[in-house]
Amino acid sequence: MALMNRQEYIESLRRLDIKVYMFGELVENPVDHPIIRPSINSVAMTYELAHDPLYEDLMTATSNLTGEKVNRFCHIHQSTEDLIKKVKMQRLLGQKTAACFQRCVGMDAFNSVYSTTYDIDKEHGTHYHDNFLEYMKLVQENDWTVDGAMTDPKGDRSLSPSQQDDPDLYVRVVERREDGIVVRGAKAHQTGSINSHEHLIMPTIAMGPEDRDYAVSFAVPTGSKGIYMIYGRQSCDTRKLEGGTIDVGNSEFGGQEALVVFDDVFVPNNRIFLNGETEYAGVLVERFAGYHRQSYGGCKVGVGDVLIGAAALASEYNGVPKVAHIKDKLIEMMHLNETLYCCGIACSAEGYPTEAGNYQIDLLLANVCKQNVTRYPYEITRLAEDIAGGLMVTMPSEKDFMHPELGPVCEKFFKGNANVPTIDRAKILRLIENLTLGTAAVGYRTESMHGAGSPQAQRIMIWRQGNLEHKKELAKNIAKIGK
Ligand code: SF4
Ligand code: FE
Repeated sequence: MALMNRQEYIESLRRLDIKVYMFGELVENPVDHPIIRPSINSVAMTYELAHDPLYEDLMTATSNLTGEKVNRFCHIHQSTEDLIKKVKMQRLLGQKTAACFQRCVGMDAFNSVYSTTYDIDKEHGTHYHDNFLEYMKLVQENDWTVDGAMTDPKGDRSLSPSQQDDPDLYVRVVERREDGIVVRGAKAHQTGSINSHEHLIMPTIAMGPEDRDYAVSFAVPTGSKGIYMIYGRQSCDTRKLEGGTIDVGNSEFGGQEALVVFDDVFVPNNRIFLNGETEYAGVLVERFAGYHRQSYGGCKVGVGDVLIGAAALASEYNGVPKVAHIKDKLIEMMHLNETLYCCGIACSAEGYPTEAGNYQIDLLLANVCKQNVTRYPYEITRLAEDIAGGLMVTMPSEKDFMHPELGPVCEKFFKGNANVPTIDRAKILRLIENLTLGTAAVGYRTESMHGAGSPQAQRIMIWRQGNLEHKKELAKNIAKIGK
């Protein structure tokens, strides 16, 4: 089954033995839960579009491992063209879902584990890369969604993993057995965890020799014994329980984050990709972060496209599409959004082959990309709220609009442009609310800040990668210093 379709993906989730809690209760049927289902629909779009001839070139690729056609989300990048297509695919999916479609964390993990395991084996004579190649074949054959899981809870940020009072605040090996390892700990704010067939775990920080038990990477089925999740709340999430379609802003799609707990989970030897080689923990983190910072130059831009479109429609529905300052604000929004896209494309075009043979993005440019993402969506959001007007946050509910007596009152007093049904105005304002303040704000606004690493993490990388010495030499040359 090389390429699952949308329905096959959704049905495959029903077969996973997932343990997830929400609002203090075990969720009986995650697939049909009204709060979870929109996030499943977003991932399902990655399967649906792979079957659309219009998007085949972006959504699929030829596997370097088997020669088969695979979903690009399961692909090991073979060229800068692959890297560019990845970003274009993410923009497309952002446009189609206006949400986080979750599957990129797996794709970014595959590509970073691929090259890192190769490097470790070369130095240590281990067999992690072989393990990983076999694992990747399974991923591609089954067209799995895999949650690339990096972020540990971290406890006291001033202390290393092994210095924490509670040793479980970073995922660690608690037992080494003949046939594998037993791991304990948790990964926080995990994107798409409940919607993933598998979890691919990586360390979250550079480590020293004393952190040996924490330098671990492995893959396990999501339904493995000992794994459970606690669902992350999103602003306005219980609106999805009300049964309507307008107040939720985006009734079909959404994102998903969860705390994933590993309560003594067994990992067999053939699914271990790092086990104690502490000096490679930081390498893996850097590569994964780099790929995911590239990703934001695609997905956030696609969601930004929807937000800009919504703001433009709001201006029309408000009756002011031709006012000069509105036009100028829309221009600014597009300029900012396309700047992010430029960064995503640039770090891809400047990519290079690793020793393992797959392609790595330009790390400096990927970090610049994500640094801009920590800012521009905030400005785009601010301008969208400016154009939308205050009604976006003061409007009565869908039930009032549908009420036999209150409905006509809402219709009369919330009318804008006479040629536009008032309910359409309400819909577009709710969409803007969803993207800027509601459930999707997790995936657009706040995730722009913290997803793929908080701003300071990129600034450290920019400092390291920026080659200041070379710049100083340039200045000395021109100023004729030391000549
Ligand atoms: Fe993909 Fe963007 Fe979601 Fe990350 S935040 S998983 S890149 S859609
Ligand atoms: Fe993210």
